Amino acid sequence: MAKIHVLDEHIANQIAAGEVVERPASVVKELVENAIDAGSTKIEVVIEEGGLQSIRVMDNGSGIEPDDCEAAFYRHATSKISNGRDLFNITSLGFRGEALASIAAVSKLTLTTSSNEDGLGRKLVIEGGKLIGNEDTASSRGTSFVVKELFYNTPARLKYMKTIQTELGHISDYMYRIALSHPEIGIILRHNENTLLQTVGNGDLLQVIAAIYGTQAAKAMLPLQVEDNDFSLQGYVSRPEWTRSNRNGISTIVNGRYIRSYGLNQAIMRAYHTLLPINRYPLAILSLTMHPSIVDVNVHPAKLEVRFSKENELYPFVEQAIYAVLRQQVLIPQPVKHPIGNTGSSFIQEQFRFMKDQSSASAGQGLSGQVERLPAKPLASMNSGSEWAVRPDVSSPMRERNDQNYGANKEMGYRPSEVKNKPFNPEVYAAPAGGSPELPPFPELTLIGQHHGTYLIAQNEDGLYLIDQHAAHERINYEFYYEQFGRPDDASQELLLPITLEFTPSESEQLKQKLNWFEQVGVYLEPFGGQTFRVRSHPYWFPKGEEQEIIEEMAEWVLSERMIDLAKLREKSSVLCSCKASIKANQRLTALESDTLLERLAACKQPYTCPHGRPIVISFSTYDLEKLFKRVM
Ligand code: ADP
Ligand code: MG
Repeated sequence: MAKIHVLDEHIANQIAAGEVVERPASVVKELVENAIDAGSTKIEVVIEEGGLQSIRVMDNGSGIEPDDCEAAFYRHATSKISNGRDLFNITSLGFRGEALASIAAVSKLTLTTSSNEDGLGRKLVIEGGKLIGNEDTASSRGTSFVVKELFYNTPARLKYMKTIQTELGHISDYMYRIALSHPEIGIILRHNENTLLQTVGNGDLLQVIAAIYGTQAAKAMLPLQVEDNDFSLQGYVSRPEWTRSNRNGISTIVNGRYIRSYGLNQAIMRAYHTLLPINRYPLAILSLTMHPSIVDVNVHPAKLEVRFSKENELYPFVEQAIYAVLRQQVLIPQPVKHPIGNTGSSFIQEQFRFMKDQSSASAGQGLSGQVERLPAKPLASMNSGSEWAVRPDVSSPMRERNDQNYGANKEMGYRPSEVKNKPFNPEVYAAPAGGSPELPPFPELTLIGQHHGTYLIAQNEDGLYLIDQHAAHERINYEFYYEQFGRPDDASQELLLPITLEFTPSESEQLKQKLNWFEQVGVYLEPFGGQTFRVRSHPYWFPKGEEQEIIEEMAEWVLSERMIDLAKLREKSSVLCSCKASIKANQRLTALESDTLLERLAACKQPYTCPHGRPIVISFSTYDLEKLFKRVM
């Protein structure tokens, strides 16, 4: 007797449901995606008990024709594609025709829908996949699904459900992403009578960001809009001083679909490199548009992952776009916070006035080889404070406000009357991908003192500035070393007294295979018998007295499996050298030393954070000070 038979459709649907409907959030996701595909402009989701009790999704979209209602629940029944070729040109969120069949198989479901304006529609009731009601009903145009008692007939799955709070967390997380992906749709999420999310649907992404992450976060966002032949990218990224402890604030959206992408996340993090402290992440909402033929969405059951056929072009495109926007900013945090809506003083950039020509001559060039480094070792101590007091104020009447980069932020105090009915601000920076961004000049400052041998105090007509001298020195040195490590052979120096290093036998074996890594950063190592290696030469600009420690640390990186590429070795070596060569806190600087430090800092490519991502400069605007002292109210 034959043992193999085809399962009936009922069981087949339950099995498929296992893949598509993992938890209440998956039901919400599928139903909301259908509502979006139906062209809805309003979608309301009402949840009870984390979705385990009931999930209701209502939309004002196209509705389903009465004769199509039953078919919508067949497996592989869809109105969105019709042949194999369509699979490579998907413009809708759904296309598999599996969701309704799967959801209906594991719940008690009611569909009410109408595709016309005369108030007539159709109502279907399905329990555990069995149709038990199909009748005409009164309904306005649009569709409503009510899904009750999810997994009531699959007890094994039900057992895996977590607490109401956890399930609700998954649902709201998904709804946030949908709202961020579709600012043009008004979205409401309610749970047990509480409204958890409500967006107006006027296309203003920044308003959606404010609704989800709060107004402070929205204020910290920088708009971005870039395109090239293949991709267009728009959205917002946070200024580096506004960080989160995890990656959840990163939303990547491709053709209106929220997706998870390791490659895109990496590209974003690379753009922020050295701007963020360790283990801190930005808030980033990035919406990419590209031809559907270059993105394969049919690689993941929940369509949360996609494959890009031009990923080698895409990732650098995204990285450079964000890099450009971040580097265009004056990244000086202001500790004094202002309420949103106070556009006049919320943004430090608005208050900066710059010496037009002078600073642009020095900014953006970085440190070249000829620029002398500050003495790395003890600096002469400062004798009296009087020197500081008599220094003339170099501020000049020629200073002009440099507004050109900052138009976008003026929009951030959004009041309803200013709301524009389009998704993105037209004044955003159209940064050319690949081009090097124009840098805003570092503010022209006059030193007025030093605090606890740690912070330089400076001013200009716009306010008061505190500069962390160690962080500043590290940044200057970092840029110096980074450039040097890019051409280490120009500077290799034979050692009169060679340095010898010792390793374990297994390390020595590995090192012998990896000597070329050292050569690429200018360090010539040779085996010297047994477990000993000798450093024959290294660049002369290695911090004096620290050479051995630096090379030992490099060896550690080279030996560890994760340390694989040259760019990383160059980067890490630069950070290490800059750390070793920099003045520490608690060191008094002479006026000349402080001035030189500031001058070099102003000439850095990125003078606002140290290589570890900590801020170098903070400021209090004159207005802030007046407020703090209640001179203005
Ligand atoms: P898919 O979305 O992959 O096509 P589904 O099983 O999710 O498959 O839906 C089946 C079909 O039911 C859709 O193709 C669509 O025609 C119809 N449909 C489902 N939900 C809606 C809705 N909210 N509004 C209009 N049509 C809908
Ligand atoms: Mg669908």
